[in-house]
Amino acid sequence: MVGPIWLLVDHSRGQITFVTKEMLQDASEVARSLGAQVWAILINGDEAAEEPWDEQVGVFGADHLLRIRAAGLPYLTAEACSFILDELSGPYERPYLVVVANSIEGQEIATRLATKWDTGYANDCVSFSIGLKGNVEATRITHGEQLETIVAFSKDPAVISFRPGSAGIGASVAGRKAKEYLYEIDLTPHKFEQSVRGLFPADPRKIDISEADSIVACGYGVGSQANFLILQELADKLGAAIAGTRRANDKGWVNIERRVGLTGKTVCPQLYLAVGISGAREHVVGMDTSKVIVAINKDSRAEIFRLAHLGVIGDAEEVMLALLKKLKDTGA
Ligand SMILES: Cc1cc2nc3c(=O)[nH]c(=O)nc-3n(C[C@H](O)[C@H](O)[C@H](O)COP(=O)(O)OP(=O)(O)OC[C@H]3O[C@@H](n4cnc5c(N)ncnc54)[C@H](O)[C@@H]3O)c2cc1C
Repeated sequence: MVGPIWLLVDHSRGQITFVTKEMLQDASEVARSLGAQVWAILINGDEAAEEPWDEQVGVFGADHLLRIRAAGLPYLTAEACSFILDELSGPYERPYLVVVANSIEGQEIATRLATKWDTGYANDCVSFSIGLKGNVEATRITHGEQLETIVAFSKDPAVISFRPGSAGIGASVAGRKAKEYLYEIDLTPHKFEQSVRGLFPADPRKIDISEADSIVACGYGVGSQANFLILQELADKLGAAIAGTRRANDKGWVNIERRVGLTGKTVCPQLYLAVGISGAREHVVGMDTSKVIVAINKDSRAEIFRLAHLGVIGDAEEVMLALLKKLKDTGA
């Protein structure tokens, strides 16, 4: 019997993020093969979250939820988070595997923790499993996204950070709850080298599309580079990130890191505005769980309209310009 899997919950505005759901589902599968338990570790989660945290993590596979209430710092740094995780290994059983999101903070937390524990760390993993010898193996996509590299850990705890959007999420188990525990820690007496001066909203042009709240997606039907610039202006006005189809990548309008679908990323934003996108299956698998899907297409029989909550039949350029005008007129 090995130790538990610890999973550091990534959350925003009272909700666990998409990558947390992906990590939980993968971790619970690995835990089952090990006969281990998944502990979701939530640091300073919103007390007034709309949906209870134990259920948010439970439905995606966590057995336990360890809620940390950390006092004494206005903003938690990666240094403080790794300190907290290290502290937990006193009162709680040391994990066999620690999984964190591969964000900037997540990578730093994982690096610091692995250094403290004198153990191995693999960043940017797209999957993880148990090898024939019972050790953790983590897969990374390397060499310019051309090759898979498997990192085999020779000792535990293994620490990995997980690339958002690389697994997607399957069905959740409705009503399942994790068993909740509370751990309070006062950070005041501890001397940290890092401090945060303030937090500022991220530029949607720069964020990872798998974490974006709203997305304007570009398809081949956008038609030209000039129209792509209109789409970019629309995205900026809406505070949305830009994504696209493979055909939009081929045209050079949208970077391959922003591709949605089978060979791209899986996204789940509040708004997915699909412009000039036909709705091919390989694209749709990456966005069909978006909360509200709006499609603009000149062909009323386009597949995307089967999925869209709201559809506009019309020329992409004309509709985008009309939308921009409306947004400007209303002072948005
Ligand atoms: C193995 C494999 C993996 C793949 N992986 C992916 C993937 O991960 N992601 C992905 O996106 N694709 C992927 N594809 C490609 C996929 O099959 C489609 O070819 C692609 O999604 C289509 O992109 P599109 O909708 O931009 O273009 P099209 O299918 O060409 O659609 C363009 C749409 O624009 C509309 N249109 C044209 N002119 C206008 C206008 N002036 N105004 C408004 N609408 C207009 C048309 O009616 C049409 O519906 C994959 C394919 C394969 C075989």
